[in-house]
Amino acid sequence: MKRQRGHKARLCLTPAQTLAAEDQGHAARAMWNLVHDWWTMLPKERRSLAAADEAIRQGRRDLPWLGVLPAQAAQAVLKTYFQAWKNCWDGRAQAPNFKGRFRSRMAIDIPQGRDLQIVRLNRRWGRMWAPKIGHVLFRWTKDLPVGKRADKGNRVTGARLVKEADGWYVVFRVQSEVPEPAQHTGPTVGIDRGITKPLALSDGSFRDHGPWLTKGEAERLRRLEKTKDRKRRARKPGEKNSRRLTRTYDQIAQLRATAKRRAIDWQHKTTTNIAETFSRIGVEDLAINNMVKSARGTVEAPGTRVRRKAGLNRAIAGEAWGRTVTMLEYKTADRGGIVVKVPAPNTSRRCSACGFITAGSRETQARFVCKNPACGFEANADTNAGRNIDHAAGQAVSGRGDLGDTRSAKRQPPSKPHAA
Ligand SMILES: [Zn+2]
Repeated sequence: MKRQRGHKARLCLTPAQTLAAEDQGHAARAMWNLVHDWWTMLPKERRSLAAADEAIRQGRRDLPWLGVLPAQAAQAVLKTYFQAWKNCWDGRAQAPNFKGRFRSRMAIDIPQGRDLQIVRLNRRWGRMWAPKIGHVLFRWTKDLPVGKRADKGNRVTGARLVKEADGWYVVFRVQSEVPEPAQHTGPTVGIDRGITKPLALSDGSFRDHGPWLTKGEAERLRRLEKTKDRKRRARKPGEKNSRRLTRTYDQIAQLRATAKRRAIDWQHKTTTNIAETFSRIGVEDLAINNMVKSARGTVEAPGTRVRRKAGLNRAIAGEAWGRTVTMLEYKTADRGGIVVKVPAPNTSRRCSACGFITAGSRETQARFVCKNPACGFEANADTNAGRNIDHAAGQAVSGRGDLGDTRSAKRQPPSKPHAA
C-alpha cells in the first residue's frame, strides 16, 4: 500500500536566507495574484492550462523581480491555483481569491524531490537544498527516507517552505510503502462536536481539553488586542501601518500560533487514541451539517460569552473539526479501520433509542429527554447525537456493503440509557 504523508520540520535560516525566502514568498504571492487577475479577466473559452503557463512566462519576462522565484516554484503556483479551482468546483472550498499581504501565508514550493539533496548531519539536524536560497538546516525529528534508505517506493517527493508566525518551516512530501493493515476488530463509535465538550462519543465518553492559553498568555493577548485596536483607530485613512502596529500584529499572531500548536498536539493524541480503539468511526459530514447548524444559529450565535476569547476559541474550534476528521481518516486507514462521513440532519433532535424526533430546537440543552411516552430515553444531548451518528454510519456502510452486517450488528442495544 502506497502512503503519502507530510512531515513538517522547523528550518534554521541565516538572516540572508530568511530575506531570500521572504522575497520568494512575496514573488509567489504576486505570481498567484497575477494568475488570478489574468484568469478572471479572460473570456471563458480562452482559458486553458497552456495559456496560463504562457501568462506566467510572460509575467517573469515583464517583471524581473518575479525572477527571484525559481521557475519550478512558479509552475507550482499555477498548479496550486488550478487545484484551488478544482476544490471549489468540487464543493470543498471557496473560490480562489487574491492573496493579501497580511492575510495570506507565505509558501514556496519545491516540487521535485531530487532537487532537495537531503542529508542528515547529526542527531538533531538535517540539511536540504532550497533553489536560490542555498543549503538550509532543518530540525531532524523523523527519519526521512533519504540517501541509502530511499528507493522507488520510499522517498521524499517534494517539499514546501512555509512561513508561520514563529518562523519558517519545511513540509516534506513523504511517500512510503507500507503493508496493508489487518481489519480493525474494535467496536464502532459515532462522534459529535459537542456544545459543551469538544468531542462527544456515542459510548458516553468525552474528549476534553483545557484552554489553549494560560491565564497569563490570555491576559497578554487581551492587552495586545486592545493596543492593536487603539493604534488602528489612531491611524489615518490610507496611512501605512506603523512599525509598532506591525509588531503588535506579529505578537498577536505568535500567541495565536502557540494556541494552535497546542490544539494540534491535543488533536494528534486524541485522534490516535480513537483510531486505535474503534474500527468504524462515524462523523457528521461537515459540508452539509455546517450549513444546517449555522442556519439554526448555534455556531454563529453562542450567546453571552466573553467575545474576544470566545472568538479565538471558536475560530480554532471551527478549523479544528476539519483537521480532526482528516487526522482520523488517515490514522484509521493505517490501522484497518474506517471513517464514515454521514449527513446527519436531526442528530440532536432524534432519540437514539427509538428514533422519535422531538420538534423544536434542542441544541442549547445539555440533556436529551425523549418525548415519546413509550420510550423516555435520557442521555447527555451530545452523547445522544453521537449515537445517532454511529447508527447513521452503520446504515451507510451496510447499505454500501463495505463492512458487511457483522459490524452494524455490534451496535449497542438501544434500550440502555446512558448515565452520562
Ligand atoms: Zn425515544
